[in-house]
Amino acid sequence: MHLSEILTHLGETHDQYFGAMAPPVIQTSNFVFNSVEEFRQAIQDEFDQHIYTRGNNPTVNILRQKLAALEETEEALVFPSGAAATAMAVLSIMKQGEHIICVEKPYSWTRVLVSEILPRYGMEYSFVDGTNSEAIKNAIRPNTTMMYLESPNTMTFELQDLAACASLAKEHGIITLIDNTNCTPLYQKPARFGIDLIMHTGTKYINGHSDVVCGVLCGNRALIEKVFHAGYMTFGNIISPHDAWLIMRGLRTFELRVQRSYESAMKIAQKLEAHPKVESVLFPMLPSFPQHNLAKKQMTGCAGLVSFYLKTNELKKAEEFTNLLKKFLLAVSWGGHESLVMPIAAFYNMPGKENPPLPSNLVRIYVGLEDADWLWEDLEQALHSI
Ligand SMILES: *Cc1c(COP(=O)(O)O)cnc(C)c1O
Repeated sequence: MHLSEILTHLGETHDQYFGAMAPPVIQTSNFVFNSVEEFRQAIQDEFDQHIYTRGNNPTVNILRQKLAALEETEEALVFPSGAAATAMAVLSIMKQGEHIICVEKPYSWTRVLVSEILPRYGMEYSFVDGTNSEAIKNAIRPNTTMMYLESPNTMTFELQDLAACASLAKEHGIITLIDNTNCTPLYQKPARFGIDLIMHTGTKYINGHSDVVCGVLCGNRALIEKVFHAGYMTFGNIISPHDAWLIMRGLRTFELRVQRSYESAMKIAQKLEAHPKVESVLFPMLPSFPQHNLAKKQMTGCAGLVSFYLKTNELKKAEEFTNLLKKFLLAVSWGGHESLVMPIAAFYNMPGKENPPLPSNLVRIYVGLEDADWLWEDLEQALHSI
């Protein structure tokens, strides 16, 4: 289906709501039936019927259809955060005594889920270097049932070979799950490579306006139904119809926003790479990126996230650089309209905490929707401090 069809028309039945152009926010907890027989039929099919908003809600379901179509999967579920989408997928599928393979350095709360929560319930895990398909293969045990990928990953953008991972997993009956937040379905479609479940933080580009926290899980009907009947319904991890409506409004401009952010980030990454105060730049679509060939093979672009190493060993200098930025706002998250900065130095010297495994001169910026040249002026003036 064409991207324009998905973003503008799919799931929108105007004649069911007075011809209104914008879909309604169906703010209801429950749905009414005309007879016991009708009710009896419906409650046997909780996955497809409107009975209670913890299961199905018409506003949320328009969004679900669009998200499934974007990832070229049969079904999608929406969660109140990306972390919830990940946790519900893993906890709905894995059982006591089973083992999960996870890329090393996944998103921080994925790390906590895998290494702290799962072991409490008798599950095992291995963190492996996802850039090395051989290492993934060697980590497979007889009780491995899931493989967790994140490509590109959060701070330093390591990639996994999706086709290789999917075929390896299929050979061993392992279910693959990828965090596809970075590329979005615009630039990477994991289902085409045989990945089973695709997770997104809708908080980032999908909503795109820094005003809703949400998560997405896409996959075939059998797997999504399994998650629906396990984690989704029992943990009650739903979003409100109003949030679904906001996310849909965000999706109207999805293609424009992601393209703009990517193109500006590419411009800025090139300028950073040429700057004498910058040691090196990490951006998957730059030829200098260590896995650039793999990036070109499985992605057609990437998020407007650029990480770079400042030419300094001093923590104070990285701090000063960040404090000098006026147009890049210092904040977590990304994918909204506004450009952001996230220095690793901020995670150093916290009482009672180990320093992070990444060097203190590493800075990640997110390039939002502002003008790229205007943003560059800000980086340039701050780089003078190095
Ligand atoms: C932000 C983020 C998450 C977590 O999503 P929430 O909606 O904040 O729960 C997971 N993965 C990646 C790659 C992220 O950037």
